[in-house]
Amino acid sequence: MSTLFTKIINREIPASIVYETEKVIAFNDINPQAPVHVLVVPKKEIPTLNDIEAKDCEYLMEMYKAIKEITKDLKIAEDGYRVITNCNSHGGQEVFHLHFHILGGEALGSMVSSK
Ligand code: AMP
Repeated sequence: MSTLFTKIINREIPASIVYETEKVIAFNDINPQAPVHVLVVPKKEIPTLNDIEAKDCEYLMEMYKAIKEITKDLKIAEDGYRVITNCNSHGGQEVFHLHFHILGGEALGSMVSSK
């Protein structure tokens, strides 16, 4: 069964897409945690960060290229932003299709655990 994000890639469910290439898609998070909250997703179902293999390096490079272009387009590159990947239960991962969260548009404060 395809992941939620593959359904977005295949236009089976709607999303606010901000960037797309042959290997990567990016769209606004449905539950934004900052003024800018974009998810960058490879068009390959890599479940978690633990599952990345050397052969996936082209996807990873494209994801970082996407971050560079999206943050420039959204005019947050200079002020700065945060990139997060949650992994498995302690990381709070909900969708098991690798993705980067880009958060920005305001000062995000220090990075602390919720404890
Ligand atoms: P994670 O907890 O790192 O797996 O993040 C999953 C993210 O996907 C959460 O921030 C959700 O708000 C987001 N999300 C879930 N469903 C959708 C959707 N249909 N469109 C956009 N973002 C979504």
